[in-house]
Amino acid sequence: MNTDPQAEAAARLAAIHSGIARACRDAARRTPPTLVAVSKTFDAATIRPLIAAGQRHFGENRVQEAQAKWPALLAENPDITLHLVGQLQSNKAAEAVALFDVIHSVDRPSLVTALAKAQAAAGKQPICYLQVNIGDEVQKGGCALPDLPALLAQARSAGLTIAGLMCVPPAAREPAPYFALLAEHARRLGLPGLSMGMSSDYQTATLLGATMVRVGSALFGARG
Ligand SMILES: *Cc1c(COP(=O)(O)O)cnc(C)c1O
Repeated sequence: MNTDPQAEAAARLAAIHSGIARACRDAARRTPPTLVAVSKTFDAATIRPLIAAGQRHFGENRVQEAQAKWPALLAENPDITLHLVGQLQSNKAAEAVALFDVIHSVDRPSLVTALAKAQAAAGKQPICYLQVNIGDEVQKGGCALPDLPALLAQARSAGLTIAGLMCVPPAAREPAPYFALLAEHARRLGLPGLSMGMSSDYQTATLLGATMVRVGSALFGARG
């Protein structure tokens, strides 16, 4: 058991990078996906060793939690890119635009409107992904597949920068068919970005074309 936090963070990071490299080899891919380290629920002291190990993309799922811990970390490390991977309420759009460089969870017309207003006011343009409810689950966030072309058109005419699609497949199901379906829709819409894959399935997502994988527990340990 490794008890030095710095060595342990570096080892976990290296393990994910080699998993990504393996999947890239299997898929004959040259460019690996960007690894987003999802640090939700973990404090600055836990995040710092991963930054020291070279990780530069981090993700959070709550605006308020990110506001509490990231301004200080960003002041220490101005080259970090911060991603919002969780559901966003329209009334938090301005705060999200102020803090995050990339927003993965744009999923409905009212949020598009709120983000467009917020980015105009802030003079700042985060890169956005449209989140798709790929398993058509009742309780889950994300745009329904049939509504996706209209949401994309609205987002573009409102001035949002849409880089691609994002999904979280249904839990406890084989994720590959959902990743393939998301990739197919991105291709049809001409969108290059694919934010998909988490700790348990980032290699599968990489095989199927993910350009960003979002890995939390495999880097930070189990969430309490
Ligand atoms: C928490 C979270 C992740 C990371 O999940 P792990 O299973 O811990 O890797 C990725 N994406 C989203 C949207 C999340 O909320």
